[in-house]
Amino acid sequence: MIVAIDGPAGSGKSTVAKAIARRCGLTLLDTGAMYRSCALLAVQAGLDVYDPANTDAIVAIARAAEIGFEQRDEGQGVFANRQDVTVQIRTPEIDIAVSPVSAIAGVREAMVARQRAIAGNCNVVAEGRDIGTVVFPNADVKVFLTADPQARALRRAVQRAGGDAAKDTGATADQASIDEILADIKRRDAYDSTRKVAPLKPADDAVHIDSSILSIDEVVERILSLDEGLRALDAKAGPSDDVFGMKGPAGTSGRTKPAKSGTRAEKDGGIPGRLRAFGNNSFDDYYDHSMGDYPLPAKAFLGLVVIIVGGVTKMLWPWSIEDAGKLADKSAGRMIIMNHGSLLDPIPIVVSCWMRGVSVRPVFKSEFNLNKLTTWFFSRVGGIPVNRGTADMKAVRRTKAALERGENILIFPEGTRIKSDDEPAKIHGGFALMAQLAKASVVPVAIVGARDLRPKGASIPQFFKRVYLKAGDAISFDSLNVKGKKQQAKAMEELAMKKVVELRDHLRAKHPGKM
Ligand code: C5P
Repeated sequence: MIVAIDGPAGSGKSTVAKAIARRCGLTLLDTGAMYRSCALLAVQAGLDVYDPANTDAIVAIARAAEIGFEQRDEGQGVFANRQDVTVQIRTPEIDIAVSPVSAIAGVREAMVARQRAIAGNCNVVAEGRDIGTVVFPNADVKVFLTADPQARALRRAVQRAGGDAAKDTGATADQASIDEILADIKRRDAYDSTRKVAPLKPADDAVHIDSSILSIDEVVERILSLDEGLRALDAKAGPSDDVFGMKGPAGTSGRTKPAKSGTRAEKDGGIPGRLRAFGNNSFDDYYDHSMGDYPLPAKAFLGLVVIIVGGVTKMLWPWSIEDAGKLADKSAGRMIIMNHGSLLDPIPIVVSCWMRGVSVRPVFKSEFNLNKLTTWFFSRVGGIPVNRGTADMKAVRRTKAALERGENILIFPEGTRIKSDDEPAKIHGGFALMAQLAKASVVPVAIVGARDLRPKGASIPQFFKRVYLKAGDAISFDSLNVKGKKQQAKAMEELAMKKVVELRDHLRAKHPGKM
């Protein structure tokens, strides 16, 4: 398990990473401390870190440096060449010297190699500037943490004055020191973001979190909600007694005491990951959590919607699914894809899966989130929004996580409802990529008769028209016999859509006149 947290100075990375390390029993990797140690050793060697003539000497120092960490009650101790540099690396002098040192390619190579070696042996939460982009591009969780510069400067100033802005939200600091730190933060941000090697920037698939208006606890919860594996580690380690402290050696949770009043476990009714009823949950919470974690009222609402909408539609447009058993597999999430003829299409699938005890999450275009009410409705019925026409990595991550949790995903690769066979349908192949990432099988489904519910030009739907669906066999990636990830995804996309068309033609032949 690798959790990558990148972001500018003072965004709260260190505190958040510490909390996650502690809660989930991960090793904390503070890569900034490594670059700071190199800068300190260079300064101690009397080198002018801004002079390009000293580059080779600084690289040699970095390569030879022995950098180590030690977990202490008050935080993480840092050693460079066996001297305890914990305090020295955080001085304003090193704040200034670290940027030019960390911009040297040779220094970065040496540090990145060590960071990877550490992660080779254990589960880590690493924080820095290039973790998600360069050091661990395949990290399980990638977060880009930001905050507005004022908020960041205040946090650092409080920290330097011996306080903790994470614990004391009302903490203040001397305005002069805030201004001084603000200037340093802005200078370092500019330096770190514009340097040639591994500049500070978010990975394409990183989840952006702005910590300006969130508490550290809220940021941590949000990160935990991104990954089922992380949540499982959190649950395994038990409730935290001290989220912000660092007790016990790295890689162990060090948690022994029972939860105190007001901790997350208590808030959630003791079930980690469960959303609290009337708990001010955001839409993102619903998209990111398992449907099993929805609060009871939301589950009851979904049950009611399924029964009422399922019953009413079945009465008005009697629908039936041939081989419906192929839709759901209780042991693994499945990617269901089907042709798209009307707004009725998702209903039989949702109802059938629900009746089989398997959650299904329809992926819908974000344009459907017209207002708060529709967004609320779609989030409560398990929908996951996707921004079409862009590489919506958030939607990809969400569907991957859902499939891995055992939830089904329902996608209409044609994107829009197709009203006639003459309309050229552009197939969105994203479903194959999502299924591939989660190693999930794809189930092709076809629907006929749906188009006739509201023929082209008709203003109101026609009632009592029969609708037929048929589910095909699940197609696994292994069964494709194709080498190469890209080729596999392409092959899945083509085969699954071909099967949808075959199923549709089979239904049309069986029910003449139905389109
Ligand atoms: O995180 P922290 O503020 O301690 O980092 C100090 C400096 O180290 C940053 O300003 C940046 O120049 C450098 N750094 C880096 N890459 C990382 C971590 C830190 O270049 N992964």
